[in-house]
Amino acid sequence: MLKMEVVAILSVNPATGETLRRFDSLGAAELEAKIERAASVFRVYRRSSFAQRATCMSRAAEILEGGKDRFGRLMTLEMGKPVKAARDEAAKCAWACRYYADCAERMLADEKVSTGASLSYIRYQPIGPVLAVMPWNFPFWQVFRFAAPALMAGNVGLLKHASNVPQCALAIEEVFREAGFPDGVFQTLLIGSEEVERVLNDPRVAAATLTGSEPAGRSVAAVAGRQIKKTVLELGGSDPFVVMPSANLETAAETAVQARIINNGQSCIAAKRFIVAESVAGEFERRFVRAMESIRVGDPMDESTQLGPLASAQILDGLDDQVQRSVAAGARVLTGGKRLDRAGQYYAPTVLTDIPKAAPAFSEELFGPVAALFRVRDAAEAIQLANDTAFGLGASVWTNESAERERFIEEIESGMVFVNGMVVSDPRLPFGGVKNSGYGRELGEFGIREFVNIKTVWIK
Ligand code: NAP
Repeated sequence: MLKMEVVAILSVNPATGETLRRFDSLGAAELEAKIERAASVFRVYRRSSFAQRATCMSRAAEILEGGKDRFGRLMTLEMGKPVKAARDEAAKCAWACRYYADCAERMLADEKVSTGASLSYIRYQPIGPVLAVMPWNFPFWQVFRFAAPALMAGNVGLLKHASNVPQCALAIEEVFREAGFPDGVFQTLLIGSEEVERVLNDPRVAAATLTGSEPAGRSVAAVAGRQIKKTVLELGGSDPFVVMPSANLETAAETAVQARIINNGQSCIAAKRFIVAESVAGEFERRFVRAMESIRVGDPMDESTQLGPLASAQILDGLDDQVQRSVAAGARVLTGGKRLDRAGQYYAPTVLTDIPKAAPAFSEELFGPVAALFRVRDAAEAIQLANDTAFGLGASVWTNESAERERFIEEIESGMVFVNGMVVSDPRLPFGGVKNSGYGRELGEFGIREFVNIKTVWIK
């Protein structure tokens, strides 16, 4: 057995910098035992009925709802999101659990196909232990939107969560255990990212899903590719928020602020580039800047806080560096543009404009409360700018003209388009991107079919 270095995994409160807990990463023998348990429980669990799985999944939903205050506080403590949003996140996980508990059997039922054989059909079968490499920004939601469909399909889950949310990772494992899933159906692996390759190389692990940054996605996909294992990648985004002259400007500007600062600005589908038609840009800018300046920044445990701290000192430094380099390249700061002078990792709600192509704010993902504002002549230029990015996750377009709406839906390069609303995830709708935002889909019916063997059956 190869040796593994034991490293410290720290849970740190980003609002205060206080270290809350310290865990040792798994040793080689512990990791081996967990992978073996996943493989052996899969051989039994795959034969469980949908009804049995649904009973446990519905129970998981009840536990999440009953414990949403406790789970919400835990998320806020470890990564700093406003506590109200954290509670809502726990409740949304319950929704996903119920959705798949109710729909999985129908979604994965045998499907007859007429061919000339006496009988031919498609059967969906689970594929085995799936490794989920997950980010800290939605520490419960990201995990449940993988785990609810994967477990309902008969797979088992191995979670390598982000290193800064170990308490959330362990709490999620506990939810599944308490819900009655057999021991080993869902396990948390407290390991660093350098151990992901070892787990993925293991022949007992069937596939992987990663939500996170582009470099992490490339690395996991490369390892999985060498092993010929299926992957789903949910990566970064620099979503456009396009406002055309026919839009309701008041609603668009209010929603724009929410779409930018959601989750302290640290959401893959947060609107990041605001592309506004010249004729309404002045008014939109005034409303948007005023609303950004009136955001209540503060302690994320305070019920009235709208914007809390960034999740780590590294993220704060990285964001400030992107802003300063953008300004050096010629961008103009309409508001903010600096760290806040207070304890914790706070950044001022910021709006940048006149952004040249060479500036980081033009081409990089801004993971924090920093908006990039652009003016365009017409719909054609808006589409050209919306697509001038390596990413393609979501897009929000604001127009009340039907021909224009159709054009945006057709021509914007993204996995999701929302018209006159901000981009959100919903258990019933597929979620995912194109280009460097990744491939594969989570949620909806497509989500449950990512990790199944689609078996063709043909009987003469
Ligand atoms: P990250 O640094 O890529 O980390 C994500 C996960 O990948 C963590 O568990 C991390 O482990 C692991 N990881 C990092 N480098 C790795 C490597 N080389 N090999 C294997 N695993 C590796 O991303 P993050 O900062 O946590 O999350 C922010 C990013 O996630 C943003 O780009 C955001 O847009 C994206 N995101 C996308 C979606 C979506 O659905 N498309 C949703 C949420 C977030 P450690 O923590 O131990 O490093």
